[in-house]
Amino acid sequence: MKIKIKNKSMKKRIFITFSIICMLIVGIGIGAKLKPHVYPPECVGCGDCVRVCPKKGKAISVIRGKAVINTEECIACDKCVDICSYGAVR
Ligand code: SF4
Ligand code: SF4
Repeated sequence: MKIKIKNKSMKKRIFITFSIICMLIVGIGIGAKLKPHVYPPECVGCGDCVRVCPKKGKAISVIRGKAVINTEECIACDKCVDICSYGAVR
């Protein structure tokens, strides 16, 4: 079924709203991708990443010998990526 919209300003508003929604979705996707991930087999649980994290244990912690990132708290500063000698955070 095709919906016809005759009013030009209404068409423009719908287009702008749709564009904003698309940009938000893409922006959220990119933001989520930029946050680092821990690769558990390579993590030795040394805790260096926890010590350098500016979120002081809220964004990354070592649980049962493996680092775990809390993506809600992580600000994607990549300090944990830089400090990890084992390449376990990427
Ligand atoms: S610095 Fe690397 S090896 Fe050490 S706990 Fe963090 S992720 Fe694991
Ligand atoms: S990217 Fe920054 S904020 Fe996120 S876990 Fe690593 S050190 Fe913490």
